[in-house]
Amino acid sequence: MTRFAGYRLLGCPTCQAVHAVANLVSFNLMSFETWTDGQKVHALVDHREGVRQCASCDGVFLERETLFMGKARTRWRNDEEPYEIPAFLLRPANEPVWTMQRLREKLSAFFAWVMRGGLPAQASTHTDTGSSSAVANDAYVEYPAFCYVPDTALAGLIMQGSQSDELMLALRKLYWRYLNTPYRDTARRLIEKGRDPTLAFMASDLQTSNMRELLALLGKYRPEAVVTRAEIHRELGEFTAAVELLSALDGSDEEANTILKAARQQVAAPVPVVYAWQRKTPMA
Ligand SMILES: [Zn+2]
Repeated sequence: MTRFAGYRLLGCPTCQAVHAVANLVSFNLMSFETWTDGQKVHALVDHREGVRQCASCDGVFLERETLFMGKARTRWRNDEEPYEIPAFLLRPANEPVWTMQRLREKLSAFFAWVMRGGLPAQASTHTDTGSSSAVANDAYVEYPAFCYVPDTALAGLIMQGSQSDELMLALRKLYWRYLNTPYRDTARRLIEKGRDPTLAFMASDLQTSNMRELLALLGKYRPEAVVTRAEIHRELGEFTAAVELLSALDGSDEEANTILKAARQQVAAPVPVVYAWQRKTPMA
């Protein structure tokens, strides 16, 4: 089961716009289809390699490059209650007239914030009925969620080339899976007809150059990602390199076993991973 408990408030690294991100308490990575390149189809949670887009300035970045601004119980923000530390500390700088009255208000707001454990004031006025509710609702603004970069935008972002290496790694990984998608459609059709789909796979020049760049980034920043590196070697037709990387593993990883088996059979095509729970037939 996928459940959420509260939100983290994260600021865009470029424009500092605050977004709400749900905290996952327990999450289910199960999907109907998982492929050796890591593509999950109809997954309950798709992390998209941490790539996010600002709802305000359209900037693209990794979620871990955002600024932590605080926590919230709901996605609703009461503009009259400053409760994010950075916002509270920044606010006096914008106020030229600093009276004793304003200072008392600030301290009382800060004290209330501390008493709530850094959580926003409860949006109790939402349940109000009558003429005042429209006015009250105006004070509660909903934090936007981050946007997800669609697959069709990946090529353009990679071409820009101004991304950090870590962001480029994530973009190229998503692009790798996206470029494998037409083959996946072909494979499903051929499997339905009872034919071996793997002969239909031939990496294009675009796929090959993206995989080479991705392999270089992984070697530099994620040397421990041996399963992914082995899979790329295999899809490039470098079966010996793939087998060498995977033979050091203990053999309990189904994804790694699927890749190893395909590499030994000199198959370069992405392959669906069949997990133990999927092998059980309803009749068994
Ligand atoms: Zn922004």
